[in-house]
Amino acid sequence: VPPEPTAPTTAPEDLVARLADLQQDYAALQARGLTLDLTRGKPSAEQLDLSDALLALPGEGVHTDADGTDVRNYGGLQGLPQLRRIFAELLGLPIEQLLAAGNASLTLMYDTLTYATLFGVPGSERPWGQEERVRFICPVPGYDRHFTVCEALGIEMITVPMTPDGPDAEAVAALVADDPSIKGMWVVPTYANPDGSVVSEDVARRLVSMPTAAPDFRILWDNAYALHHLTEDEATSADAVGLAAEAGHPDRVVLFASTSKITFAGAGVAFLGSSPANVAWFSKHLSAQSIGPDKVNQLRHALFFGDAEGVRVHMRKHRDILAPKFDAVIGVLAERLGEVATWSVPRGGYFVTLAVQPGTASRVVELARAAGIALTPAGAAFPYGDDPQDSILRLAPTLPPLDEVRVAMDGVATCVLLAGAERAAD
Ligand code: PLP
Repeated sequence: VPPEPTAPTTAPEDLVARLADLQQDYAALQARGLTLDLTRGKPSAEQLDLSDALLALPGEGVHTDADGTDVRNYGGLQGLPQLRRIFAELLGLPIEQLLAAGNASLTLMYDTLTYATLFGVPGSERPWGQEERVRFICPVPGYDRHFTVCEALGIEMITVPMTPDGPDAEAVAALVADDPSIKGMWVVPTYANPDGSVVSEDVARRLVSMPTAAPDFRILWDNAYALHHLTEDEATSADAVGLAAEAGHPDRVVLFASTSKITFAGAGVAFLGSSPANVAWFSKHLSAQSIGPDKVNQLRHALFFGDAEGVRVHMRKHRDILAPKFDAVIGVLAERLGEVATWSVPRGGYFVTLAVQPGTASRVVELARAAGIALTPAGAAFPYGDDPQDSILRLAPTLPPLDEVRVAMDGVATCVLLAGAERAAD
């Protein structure tokens, strides 16, 4: 397991000596007039094409699922069993404990926390919105949209560091032990956004079994990249829902997943999995919002995949497209930044985390922008956009074609070196 990228602390002397050369390299980079984008973790057009057959499914005249339900009509709040069965197997849950919903798992996360705020969760003494303060633990670096959900609902955020095995479980356990205002935490267990780490079985066990002062503590287990392997060494996600039940905290974990990066990012299917009590709780509140999900899309997905193995085979096609792009990123980093930066080497997911000289990440983004290379804003992987070291950058190489990834990364390397040299010379 490669170490967690942390801000490199020594700026080599020779970087200062190279300042003038680096300024020239940068001027040449700017003169190329590039327009490249490494900002968002979107699938490329080539990846979306893998699922084009979906557009012809279920097909005129095909409108019943395996159980004879007419998918065109209202109903089926919990989602189509034919599709839930496939993903229950892949996500390691009983089908009764897995809901299939609309196209965005982010909506399910937002709804979970909204219902908690308005009504409380099973085990709550009162709605979270009636508590004096509600706080959530955010492992950093993390996913910016998780932070946006918290901010939107008035949930304060506190950070713990990530490790190569997932969130620092001892730091989490120490925080939650006596503070009842800490109601939950975010976890991206497999190929985390953005550092690619995978929660180990030990960390998962610790998180689901630690004593919490809040009786209604929830782990939002966002398994967005559960199946998104970049190598043949495929990580198996810890069964957090099952482990939590074993540990005597059956309602602690709510799992989320979707096909956004399996089929279509804008027209996939999202899933929520949890204990029977949480699933009943979520369904009850959902039933006031909706009479049922888009079952036509769910049937289309079920027919497209056939079974769980169909999904696995499909994911290997994504891997074949993505692995060379990640190899290109790591290759450029290793070739050009060995002495001045550290980075993650993910085995899956959509991102590489790059740790540059402290105090230079924002400058790197600024230099890159002025050279036509869009990077995710520095600080985005931290709550309130605040990276205390100004060191962490998130690289997203999935969207651009391979040759553009190479060009963009070479440009980024020039910006990292120049920003480091400027700082060292300062
Ligand atoms: N969770 C994580 C960790 C992500 O990185 C993303 C997308 O980048 C999402 C959730 C969004 O998922 P969905 O498209 O299902 O809303």
